Amino acid sequence: MTLEGLKPIVEGVGVPGSPLIMAGPCSAETEEQVLSTARQLALGGVKIFRAGIWKPRTKPGGFEGIGKEGLQWLKRVQEETGMLVATEVAMRRHVEEALEAGVDILWIGARTSANPFAMQEIADAIKDAGVDIPVLVKNPVNPDLELWIGALERLYNAGVRRLGAIHRGFSFYGKSIYRNPPQWHIPIELHRRIPELPIIVDPSHMGGKRELIGPLAQQALDMKFSGLMIESHCNPDEAWSDKNQQLTPDILRIVLGSLVVRNAEQSTESLQALRQQIDKVDTELLDLYAKRMEIARQIGHYKKEHSMPVVQESRYNDLMKSRVATAVDMGLSADFMKTVLQAIHEESVRQQIEILNN
Ligand code: PEP
Ligand code: MN
Repeated sequence: MTLEGLKPIVEGVGVPGSPLIMAGPCSAETEEQVLSTARQLALGGVKIFRAGIWKPRTKPGGFEGIGKEGLQWLKRVQEETGMLVATEVAMRRHVEEALEAGVDILWIGARTSANPFAMQEIADAIKDAGVDIPVLVKNPVNPDLELWIGALERLYNAGVRRLGAIHRGFSFYGKSIYRNPPQWHIPIELHRRIPELPIIVDPSHMGGKRELIGPLAQQALDMKFSGLMIESHCNPDEAWSDKNQQLTPDILRIVLGSLVVRNAEQSTESLQALRQQIDKVDTELLDLYAKRMEIARQIGHYKKEHSMPVVQESRYNDLMKSRVATAVDMGLSADFMKTVLQAIHEESVRQQIEILNN
């Protein structure tokens, strides 16, 4: 799919070699907290300031955002520091109030992008305002790429051309070191489907912990995503929301300074030659898999004729043991080989069961 005519979120940034960086507190709490954080971030070279004015909280009773009043603090950030300011909108009223206050960039939160009614209402409000404002869409909380793309399409159809996505990881039930595991294959697939769409990574909401922010940010740059949104607070321990995943502006500067931006566009001739070899080997592997499955099917016919069960435990165990041992001798990892062999075996079994039931 193409979203024709997309324009950069902000001119000159968000391209390989120059990632777009947005930073600021999870929530605008007080005028002093907003300005103190913003001043320090500006000194550290950050050009886009984020702060939540309306906060979607899991349960009632928490801090649900300072509301409209905080928009005036963002205005002061613009005036004093020259930074662009960004905030989250979740309904028409938010869009109207943010635009009236001169907010430069809007983003849609993960709970809102999961809701097509809310997305349409926001898209309509932006269209009615007739402004050319950048809008960034966080992935829906659940790992649903179509829903994410649908949210982006609603904005595109409403005329938004400075469009971007924010990957903040996906919600799950159970244990993980991440607050919202990245599931990188989903934003990678989004990039494959809409290559011209910039994708910014939010390691704060993904990791949920300060110490995971740096490593996740590096991974994002290594995968050539377009930028980073990181939560930063002048006093994270006292933050009114998401305190475990915010860095002080000083620490943020150190983290950003330590990130390596690789110039991945350069593809030398020797790299191309190596890639051709990989293509060739992969074709040979596919051919071998096809041959192996054909033999498995012949065995399936034999088992059917002789009323034998499909899975023969002892044969499977012997085969796994000897193959893995050979693979390790050849310098391959045992875990890797077990995974491959299990997948091959499962497919053989599936094909033989098909034969037995036909
Ligand atoms: C936020 O950016 O503070 C926020 C609420 O994020 P998300 O929508 O990703 O949970
Ligand atoms: Mn937050």
